[in-house]
Amino acid sequence: MEAGKKSSTVPHRATTDRTCWSLRFGEGNGPCDRAEKRRLAGSGGGSSVVDDIEENSRWHTTLIIRGGTIVDGSGLPRYEADLGITGDRIATIGKINETAKEVIDADGRVVAPGFIDGHTHMDAQIFWDPLGTCSSWHGVTSVVMGNCGFSLAPCAEKDKLLVMKNLERAEDISPRAMEAGIKWSWDNFAQYLDAVERLPKGINYAAYVGHSALRTYVMGERAFSADTTSEDLAAMKRELRTAIRAGAAGFSTSRNRNHETPDNRPVASRLANWDEVRQLVGVMGELHAGVFELAQEDVDRDPAVLADFHCRLKALALETGVPVTFGGGASRKSPQPNMWRSFFDLADETVAAGGKMLVQTSSRWISALLSFESVMPFDKAPVWRDVRKLPLAEQEAALRNPAIRRQLTDAAREHMRSPHRVIGAEARPPEFDWFFPLDKPLPPWRSLAQLAEESDKDPLDLIIDLGLDKHLKQFFIQPIVNEDQDLVLAMMRHPRSVVTFSDSGAHVSQIMDSSIQTHLLGHWVRERQALTLEQAIRKTTFDLAAFWRLQGRGLVREGYFADLTIFDPATIAPEMPTLEYDLPAGARRLKQKSIGILATVVNGEVLFRENEHAGALPGRLLRGPLAAAR
Ligand SMILES: [Zn+2]
Repeated sequence: MEAGKKSSTVPHRATTDRTCWSLRFGEGNGPCDRAEKRRLAGSGGGSSVVDDIEENSRWHTTLIIRGGTIVDGSGLPRYEADLGITGDRIATIGKINETAKEVIDADGRVVAPGFIDGHTHMDAQIFWDPLGTCSSWHGVTSVVMGNCGFSLAPCAEKDKLLVMKNLERAEDISPRAMEAGIKWSWDNFAQYLDAVERLPKGINYAAYVGHSALRTYVMGERAFSADTTSEDLAAMKRELRTAIRAGAAGFSTSRNRNHETPDNRPVASRLANWDEVRQLVGVMGELHAGVFELAQEDVDRDPAVLADFHCRLKALALETGVPVTFGGGASRKSPQPNMWRSFFDLADETVAAGGKMLVQTSSRWISALLSFESVMPFDKAPVWRDVRKLPLAEQEAALRNPAIRRQLTDAAREHMRSPHRVIGAEARPPEFDWFFPLDKPLPPWRSLAQLAEESDKDPLDLIIDLGLDKHLKQFFIQPIVNEDQDLVLAMMRHPRSVVTFSDSGAHVSQIMDSSIQTHLLGHWVRERQALTLEQAIRKTTFDLAAFWRLQGRGLVREGYFADLTIFDPATIAPEMPTLEYDLPAGARRLKQKSIGILATVVNGEVLFRENEHAGALPGRLLRGPLAAAR
């Protein structure tokens, strides 16, 4: 992947968010005084330089976006205006007669804040993919990474394999790619933030301290098998405190059975008892900074366990004051079909009692994306095991051989009858009513059961025929959760939800949900008209910026950072996915671009035009609020 050239600088440009966002964000609004401005300006004294910079920046429009329809992120009605951008900020909104070095004609297009994704796992990818794909191809300009307890820090280089073990199976990130692609230069979390800050970046990143890494940092191998001692816990709290002060976005954990290591053990955070979690979240409470994100406990089988979990979570939010967030979803297989609603009720109750809580939803089902090129549900069955090891062309030849094909369908049938244990996004034996050939990027899709009936074919034969028709490049969707789209809509409409949860950067050969924002705009807003543009944009911008306290982002307002997505509401949609082998060490990943996005602007510079990289890498590390005071 191209390293890209460093972005151009303007004289007043702050290198990170912790520096002077109040420089043109309203006087007296932040920690910056005049002396600080002078320091940033590098003048070393005398007020004239500062005045010159302010004078210049006010008049020196660097980018104009002309004639667009502004949907500003607040939920307020759209309006037409030009945008004038000076350096990294929106300087003017209204009629602009002057011209600038760069002008984008946005006639007929929507100009919205860049989308913010609160649930990604780009921690490893950021080292080899400066553009932040595939999220950035869908209009995302800021992400939070390190979710579900998985981060690469704190961790000394000598222990990196322990931390990678947490990520490898639970998040399907290739250990070969991580080994080849990550230049380890840290031990504690503050050093990791410095490393991220130095990397060339197309988009903005905030980063949680992951509980699995933190536990492993302090306890080594014991993290995978033992309770903490009081010394362990004190050391973990110390490191977390330092990390939050250095600008970590918060602390994340997983208590979920889907998160296992390659040797079938729980990831380190799952060994923690609730008191350990409480004490760690309490550190953020004492500091009045940081968000707590968790992959939930396994509460779906027993209402009493669910109620106990809710009770603890609400108490934690109230006693610490820390904003709490987690993923919400509805599963048709849940023993408690209304469980999803109880999490929204919990958020309502917690907020009513004075706490902060936000539920993360997707804009569709979360599904495995399968193909003969990557993973199929029968790969571990006899005959399949051997055939699937072959190069793709030889697999194709085998599938065209009637005798081998019969063996394969027999083995698949047998495989579907035997019990299985799958975790996370691993492929499960298909139920043909819930298995969909992906023939276009947006729904509705017809199920394999339906297609088999219409064509009077055996469903297993049909899977093979469809694969062969496309030289094995046919994708199939297998929903894992959120099957009922009416419930997805109800969740998105709930005032305590945001549309996020792409898991971008993880499950790289299993799922492809980096396109949930363009799915939201193409499917729910345009085709179904179930949400207005104003609602959908707010759910992907301002509501997230507010919860994660991303100062100066998430709205189109004068003085705000110019993070913008400019798109055609009549065409915006995901494109068809592909499978590529472009990760370090040639590891594979699913890839998906979008159509209908005219330009993506990050910190005032054009990152993409029509999803082609324009050359700049204007992204930044977004440090939490305490870093500004350092
Ligand atoms: Zn996650």
